[in-house]
Amino acid sequence: MTAIAHPEHAAETIILPVIGMSCASCQAHVEQALRESPGVQQASVNLLANSARVVFNPDQTSPESLITAIRESGYDATLPTPATSQWQQDESSKDSQESTALQWRAFFSLAAAAFAMAAPMLMPLPLTLLHWSLLALTLLVMFLCAGPIYRGAWQAALHRTSNMNTLISIGTTAALLYSLLVTVAPSLCRSLGLPGDEYYESILFILAFLLTGKWLESRARRRTLDALRSFAALQPGAAAVLRDGVTLTLPLDQVRTDDICLVRPGERVPVDGIVFRGESSIDESLLTGEPLPVAKATGDRVTGGSINCDGSLEIRATTIGASSVLAQMLRMMQDAQSGKAPMQQLADRVSSIFVPVVLVIALVTFAVWWLLAPNGAGIALALANAITVLVIACPCAMGLAVPAALTVAIGRAAQLGILVKGADSLERLAAVTTIALDKTGTLTLGHPQITAVQLANGTSFSESDCLRLAAALESRSLHPVARALTNYAVTQLHTETFPAVDALLTHPGKGISGNVEGHAIVIGNASLYSQLGIALPETSSPASATQLHLAVDGIHACTFLAADTLRPSAPTTIASLHSLGIATVLLTGDSPATANSIAAQAGIAAENVHASHLPVAKTEFIRNLQQSGTRVAMAGDGINDAAALALADAGFAMGAGADMARDAGNFIVLAGDIAAIPRAIQLARHTLRICRQNIGWALAYNVIGIPIAAGLLYPAFGIRLSPVIASAAMAFSSISVLLNSLRLRHFAPAGSRSL
Ligand code: ADP
Ligand code: MG
Repeated sequence: MTAIAHPEHAAETIILPVIGMSCASCQAHVEQALRESPGVQQASVNLLANSARVVFNPDQTSPESLITAIRESGYDATLPTPATSQWQQDESSKDSQESTALQWRAFFSLAAAAFAMAAPMLMPLPLTLLHWSLLALTLLVMFLCAGPIYRGAWQAALHRTSNMNTLISIGTTAALLYSLLVTVAPSLCRSLGLPGDEYYESILFILAFLLTGKWLESRARRRTLDALRSFAALQPGAAAVLRDGVTLTLPLDQVRTDDICLVRPGERVPVDGIVFRGESSIDESLLTGEPLPVAKATGDRVTGGSINCDGSLEIRATTIGASSVLAQMLRMMQDAQSGKAPMQQLADRVSSIFVPVVLVIALVTFAVWWLLAPNGAGIALALANAITVLVIACPCAMGLAVPAALTVAIGRAAQLGILVKGADSLERLAAVTTIALDKTGTLTLGHPQITAVQLANGTSFSESDCLRLAAALESRSLHPVARALTNYAVTQLHTETFPAVDALLTHPGKGISGNVEGHAIVIGNASLYSQLGIALPETSSPASATQLHLAVDGIHACTFLAADTLRPSAPTTIASLHSLGIATVLLTGDSPATANSIAAQAGIAAENVHASHLPVAKTEFIRNLQQSGTRVAMAGDGINDAAALALADAGFAMGAGADMARDAGNFIVLAGDIAAIPRAIQLARHTLRICRQNIGWALAYNVIGIPIAAGLLYPAFGIRLSPVIASAAMAFSSISVLLNSLRLRHFAPAGSRSL
């Protein structure tokens, strides 16, 4: 241990697969158990993905003790497998086995229920014999098909909790016990004045619908996770690596940084890297949503998972394993999907108190009907209605409402080239009414070119002196204008080496300064000159060019003009943002003249241009808007705009790369093209609509279903639900929530090409 505390190292995050959850109240129990165990800072359980995301202090607890905590709450968990392989395995083994087993159990119980219904008509058996054979059939189905439900209820009871299994188990067991009495001791029933109806058929149908529902649900559930799986499948299993002149085929985890990998035409790029030799076009559509292949040559960055279309490439591996772009994408998506959106909290709160409340309602229903119903039929009606309440009241649909929609939406967003960070991001984006756009690299392509060099009158420095001094500083900066100057110097001076620099200082949003060849050099905009007290003579240049002033020893020596081109997609993007009712604002550190020219070309109104804003002023601008009640999104390149991106209600970081995991922003636009932003906004709004529909549907279903089940409509209208209908309705409610969410898979933003 070091003396210095590293608060950022104090917490670790883990995603644990949880086994045995069936409804929202299970989820609430596991979550509570995790939160109460020592060392846990945050815990959220995702019913849909059957996983728990836990933030914990590794000094106080371990993944193993987290699993123990989950076990003690009546469920089970396993240690996670590495992100990529986990999704590949799931598909093949565990999930599909489970689904096949469910399918058989559903099928058998349906057949048994159908038989129970038809038997009395097909075979005129004596009543006792019929009852006995139905009893045998029911017990068979209860044990063979529905065993896990009763075991789950028992486990929960052992841990003094209750869940949806509890409701079903109590309901069907009560029905079984009554039917048993009717079967075994019919005379006793008669002498007690009890009706001789049995409930075998009902029990069979309840279980059959329940299991069929679960089976269909498991299929739909798997489809909601499809997008994640398809990303995991992008990673090839092996790479052809050149070592000591021999080509070896190595599993991916044996590839090291700086290895040279061979990528033949038609193959997937195995790891992130830089093209070392060769030329080709690369299809990155599954990673960036960009449908056209991108040309790549020596020195260009390639991303693992993209497809090499025509040429042969040798690439030098840069990032591998967990830090590769693909692995980061997977992790972020998984993270976002297992987090909790604010909207989810309502659903969770309702679910956690649901089961006990329903048990009480069922008891009250039983008591009231028993006491008040017309003589004789009382106990039969009381029992049937209480069972119906128990069966209809499962909060499954409630637990699935939000996560199902979010999961599909986050997967769909990735296909459209937008990575969503955090579960609440889409909800916040849907509420945005204004978007602030950075200029360089966001509205423009971000590759400015030097178009002219204007030497100051009477300066003793030549153009090549100025270029050499400027490039000495700018070759140390990553700013787009710095790269433009450096590239220009390289081509003009025919050299790639520039003089040494000391006392190098960057002035964010203004420029750069340092000492070169014994001179104090300053390059930057007018505000840097005035800050340093350097006089700037009147200059004239086209409005659209950025002026980069160079001063030597405090005296202005020359001005470089850098022109950046507007992104071709900018005008249509701004127009579609406006048609979505979103106001656009240009925020830039550049001069008003340049900013106005770019804004005019893009279609942003002149009064919404805010130029000469330092990074701090950009943040301030966003804060002011927010304080006036506006929900603001911000799009920027994420490096010098990080603070503004983080502050905005929704931050779009443009472009991906090795630094993708940077914290700024809730969205990463993989292809770096703002055209993705209106698509993301439409998707977010659509997702919110689907979430609301889901919650509304799930709530309405329980709010309306329970009173009808309790028999509230019977006295006035004679309407009563049978336990069988209740069971079918319950299965239908979760399936409909899932199917409604799956509609997002086909979401195509208006006015754009569909993918
Ligand atoms: P933007 O908001 O357009 O992304 P920045 O805030 O990064 O711009 O920079 C604002 C201005 O500061 C630039 O337009 C440029 O004039 C000047 N500047 C920033 N960095 C440099 C640099 N390394 N060299 C010269 N000028 C710079
Ligand atoms: Mg910028």
